[in-house]
Amino acid sequence: MVKLSEWRGKEIFRAYRLPVPRGTVVRSPEEAVQAVRSGAVPLPCVVKAQVLAGGRGKGGAVRFAATAEEAAEAARAILDLTFQGEKVREVLLEERLAIEKELYVSLTLDRSRRLPLLMTSAAGGMEIESVADEAIVRQWVHPFAGLTSYEKRAAAKSLGLSGALARSLDAVLDGLWSAFVGEDIELVEINPLAVVGNAVIALDAKVIIEDDAAFRHPQYAEVRDDRTELEEFAREREIAFVQLDGNIGVIANGAGLTMATLDVLQQSGGRPGVFLDLGGTDDPKKVTEAFLLMARAKPAAVFLNIFGGVTRCDTVANGLVAAMHQVPDAERFPLVARIRGNNEAEGIEILRKAGVTSLRDLKESVEAVVAAARGAG
Ligand code: ADP
Ligand code: MG
Repeated sequence: MVKLSEWRGKEIFRAYRLPVPRGTVVRSPEEAVQAVRSGAVPLPCVVKAQVLAGGRGKGGAVRFAATAEEAAEAARAILDLTFQGEKVREVLLEERLAIEKELYVSLTLDRSRRLPLLMTSAAGGMEIESVADEAIVRQWVHPFAGLTSYEKRAAAKSLGLSGALARSLDAVLDGLWSAFVGEDIELVEINPLAVVGNAVIALDAKVIIEDDAAFRHPQYAEVRDDRTELEEFAREREIAFVQLDGNIGVIANGAGLTMATLDVLQQSGGRPGVFLDLGGTDDPKKVTEAFLLMARAKPAAVFLNIFGGVTRCDTVANGLVAAMHQVPDAERFPLVARIRGNNEAEGIEILRKAGVTSLRDLKESVEAVVAAARGAG
């Protein structure tokens, strides 16, 4: 998922002629003073943490400043924050506008209807999840026709806008639609879209680029900072690999079995630390690669839970044994395997010969791996 920070989202808005406040991103209090003194940021201004989490306003990560010194002070305080686990590295300084009303507008892809969805609400400024359903107007948009005049009028009506404000909204919606299509956007949310005089202006920007189209937008590649180094490495090799904060590694096949395995481990007192989904593969090369990646994550113990439907248990077992031989002794970890399905007996035999605890029962095997992880510290 390529989720952009607010200032990058606003760069896209600017490129598509959506009105946004004048402002600039800075990385130190000194830069903040400079930004104000140079006139890039008019006073009074707003100082906003650039993190991917929402709710910054309520969380003290959005501050107001009337002078260059106050802006620097606010920037210093915000740059010291860790907001919902994310260290603040950048702050956005922008002009403070006199808001008359806060509205909500978003465009997203509704996968169940396979159509773009325009959502508008006059109850802007708060998180949309906490807005009553009746206060949100939903319109599904024909992907080739784009937003029609009819839909734009209905949107204006839902927001209580008419005259010059409705025309201003029209321009915002046109720009939003062009950005949605042009940048392969999965979600774009403006909350709040503020009424200021006789125009509406985007005060916040949340933009998520569709992952499968990310290759078409290499300029966003450097912003994928929510992945660990190993996750990034795995991604380049098309391995589904996620690091959590526990100490037990899980290798399973298929998203459903993988998730269920994490749940069972958790319920049995284990703490899953990293998981890897082999998907439909039993290609020994892929299995080896996956296993070596798991080793690099340094788990206390690893649980291999494989269902051989299309996948053959013996090929998975062979790949695993081959991989085990490539991991240096010092980096070995206890391994418990549970493999069921196609060529199960052969698979179990191969693993047992290689010294891997191989059990058929789920409960038993989960208990074994939890105990092994505990023993390993
Ligand atoms: P978040 O959604 O993370 O809380 P927002 O960007 O929506 O962050 O900002 C929170 C609130 O701060 C907004 O609802 C608005 O009231 C106020 N705000 C944000 N930017 C400006 C601005 N440029 N001028 C005036 N008020 C602003
Ligand atoms: Mg917001």
